[in-house]
Amino acid sequence: MTNKKYSAIKKGDTILVTGATGFIGAWVVSKLLNDYKVKLVIRDESKYPKLKEIFGAVDYAVCNIDDLDSLKEAVNGCQGVIHLASPFTFKVNNYEEELMKPAVEGTTTILKACLHSEVKRIVITSSFAAIYDAAKGLQPHKVYTEKEFSPLTYEDGVNAKDPGMAYRASKSVAEKAAWDFIKQQDANFDISVICPSMVFGPLYSTTLLKSLADINSSNAVIWSLVNASEIPPTKAPLYVDVRDVADAHVNALVSENASNSRYLVSAGDYDTQEIADILRLAKFKNIPAGTPGQRISGTHFKGDSSKAVKDLGIQFRPLDQSVIELCHQLLAYQP
Ligand code: NDP
Repeated sequence: MTNKKYSAIKKGDTILVTGATGFIGAWVVSKLLNDYKVKLVIRDESKYPKLKEIFGAVDYAVCNIDDLDSLKEAVNGCQGVIHLASPFTFKVNNYEEELMKPAVEGTTTILKACLHSEVKRIVITSSFAAIYDAAKGLQPHKVYTEKEFSPLTYEDGVNAKDPGMAYRASKSVAEKAAWDFIKQQDANFDISVICPSMVFGPLYSTTLLKSLADINSSNAVIWSLVNASEIPPTKAPLYVDVRDVADAHVNALVSENASNSRYLVSAGDYDTQEIADILRLAKFKNIPAGTPGQRISGTHFKGDSSKAVKDLGIQFRPLDQSVIELCHQLLAYQP
């Protein structure tokens, strides 16, 4: 990648965070608050009182992620940015308006807003969806790394055959737009891109959760096993714990090697039968038995996250920790 620079972000600096109301964003903010000042970008001011309840009186700006002027104002006085906000939902009707545009324009607008600012590094949340090529199927012996890019285009996203493909395209095109931007602009900042696989684990706080039906898309995979009549199929077979993903974001702000680098962040592979086995062993009730012990491991691709381990110092939590803590939390949840 071009534009190699080293981050000068230091403890006490102010980090602008988009997507703090989300599953991963809340954990990122909680970790940032140990060492940095934080400013949140939210699009809906009515969510602020709950954020204040969770994080204290943290600074914030209300703006849409494609509103350049408001974002320029929000970025003022910040030395780093973590850009997580992007729709991760399959409940969409118009792929272009609801997935492609917010992902791509959100990413390019935040980059533009940081030009000529004090910002030194922008950490961008991409996805394993921007790495792998779903059209190639299971590829049993394949090991993906961050060197690969999904071939999906903007048009593929707009005309996708299902919302999953449109989501994958939204992440892929948004990330490519960020790399193009860095190549084309003589920017005052570098970027670091985090590509997590399916992210599981407890919510930082259930305060923002409206109902169990509103659980975020990745944790919905785990929650769908509770009271299920059968084991649902495994759709995206690599996982990582949300706290490890948050560490990757925060460490990417300051890691020298993370300058204009991209990271696949995944702890390993899983299947829904394995999650059911974990939950039944931990004595959760109403979990389908399926075929205990049967694994799809070895029947599909894997991921290699050794670069994230080396550069970002991540130590991955095991699957049972993410799954059990989440289910205890959700079963205790009262809306
Ligand atoms: P959530 O759905 O929990 O959070 C999404 C966040 O993005 C929320 O803060 C939401 O704000 C914001 N957002 C969504 N759409 C828009 C929009 N149009 N304009 C402004 N803000 C918007 O998802 P996650 O926390 O799981 O995902 C966060 C990021 O991580 C996303 O970029 C996602 O693609 C990526 N990711 C997630 C993975 C996972 O398994 N969870 C795996 C790989 C990548 P609001 O509260 O206002 O809706």
